[in-house]
Amino acid sequence: MPPFASWLRVTPGLAEVLSDVERWLLPGACLLCTEPISARENDALICDLCRLRWRAIPHPVCQRCGQPSFRGLECRLCAEWPQGLARARSAVWLEESARSAVHQLKYEGWGRAAEAMADAMLGLEPLTRQVCLIPVPLGGRRQRARGYNQSERIATALGARTGHAVRTDLLKRVRETPTQTALTPEARHANVAGAFCSGAAAGMELVLVDDVFTTGATLAAAAAALMAAGAKRVEAVTFARAVVELDV
Ligand SMILES: [Zn+2]
Ligand SMILES: [Zn+2]
Repeated sequence: MPPFASWLRVTPGLAEVLSDVERWLLPGACLLCTEPISARENDALICDLCRLRWRAIPHPVCQRCGQPSFRGLECRLCAEWPQGLARARSAVWLEESARSAVHQLKYEGWGRAAEAMADAMLGLEPLTRQVCLIPVPLGGRRQRARGYNQSERIATALGARTGHAVRTDLLKRVRETPTQTALTPEARHANVAGAFCSGAAAGMELVLVDDVFTTGATLAAAAAALMAAGAKRVEAVTFARAVVELDV
């Protein structure tokens, strides 16, 4: 753990300043494999080799939720989704090196890990249109404890690369939700239902941004709030996608 990660938890306001200090604290070693990073890689936190190990989601995928599928079969993952989220796409599988990148961004305070993740997400279909990016908000308590929102870091890095505007003022999390990891997909939908509210979004085309797609429950709940506030279309992109075993 970098020495300043523990300060972040007690002094959240330092997060912005420290993201600049990262460059100075980490001269030329990859965050994931600790091998030296060459000058060619422009002070990236994650080396080219580690990025090459990230396994892209194979196509074809379900038109709606992005789960790899055989053409013509009904998708088991999104059949029960509530209305609202039109389409979700993810860049890579959540495994090994990609999982460590998420961990470094989310729990170890390495905000600039978001830049390599945004690079991996650039070709995702929802980003090819003129849209606003909406980072999935954390609850107030969780954000204060972490000092920043990892989804906002990814959205900001994406916006800098694509020119899409990032709106952090529209969507709010109005209810803290218990952690989802131990829940079934059905329980996850119930857990996050009504957890978000949105300011007026009339006619807007929006793309939610998050670090990980697991069952889509959080994204679907956030999309429902934006649609209820008048949005024209809501889609989602995430860096990684959890490997979900679906019984066939
Ligand atoms: Zn590396
Ligand atoms: Zn699907």
